[in-house]
Amino acid sequence: MIKAPWTTAQIENLRKRQAEPTLHSYTCDDCGNDLYPTEQGWECYTDGCNYTQDWAHTSDVTGEFQSLVDFRKHLDSKIDASLEGI
Ligand SMILES: [Zn+2]
Repeated sequence: MIKAPWTTAQIENLRKRQAEPTLHSYTCDDCGNDLYPTEQGWECYTDGCNYTQDWAHTSDVTGEFQSLVDFRKHLDSKIDASLEGI
């Protein structure tokens, strides 16, 4: 895992990670809402909820998760293509 503070590029990776529908998002331990990344770490979207989290998995911070997502989409498209041939 990588702890905050995070750089602008790392925050952008985490933002993309949260927006990726095929992955379970980082959520608040207190209210269950999604978290958004800031320089100081995760913060909760819910007004009045003060939950923060100062770490994320390394591949999510570095953006490596994206290659796994791309690989999965690649496999899905192969499966779709082979199904069309049946
Ligand atoms: Zn919350």
